Amino acid sequence: MKHLIIAGAILVPVIVGAQESSEVTLVSSILADLQLVSFAQNIEYCGYVGFNTDGQLIASKPTRGDEGSCLADDPYHIKVITASYHTHGGHSFDYINEVPSGEDMEGDADEGIDGYVATPGGRLWYIDSVEMIASQLCGIQCLPVDPAFVEGENGHIAESYSYYDLVIRLAD
Ligand SMILES: [Zn+2]
Repeated sequence: MKHLIIAGAILVPVIVGAQESSEVTLVSSILADLQLVSFAQNIEYCGYVGFNTDGQLIASKPTRGDEGSCLADDPYHIKVITASYHTHGGHSFDYINEVPSGEDMEGDADEGIDGYVATPGGRLWYIDSVEMIASQLCGIQCLPVDPAFVEGENGHIAESYSYYDLVIRLAD
């Protein structure tokens, strides 16, 4: 699987996915609220967005994860899941958490959905799991920022990364 994705990533130009603006608006507001509890507890929170049986765009109730991961509960009220969302907890010296992880991208790709990730620095990332590219929808301080966040500690953060870029970067 890894080799297939790498081969595909080389051929694919960097394109921000075709995410719907209403989905971005919904996810942004959910993540903005979750950032605060996520920082206070240093815990990741996660969930899904998608359409209910009436065709309305809704979000599932967030699931509480742990310091470095989060496995969302099944979203019973969502008929068609379009994307996952999760926070990256608070500032950490143990994790590079200003970018999505390769595992984040793998998880979304396995489920056939896209993803949104909020970081301690207040960045909002969009994972396009078809192209296997993660792009910043908005940059530092766009969402609430952990008071303990130290800008630059994770090094330079690019506007977008391929899956392969992230796996290499996080392996350093
Ligand atoms: Zn993540």
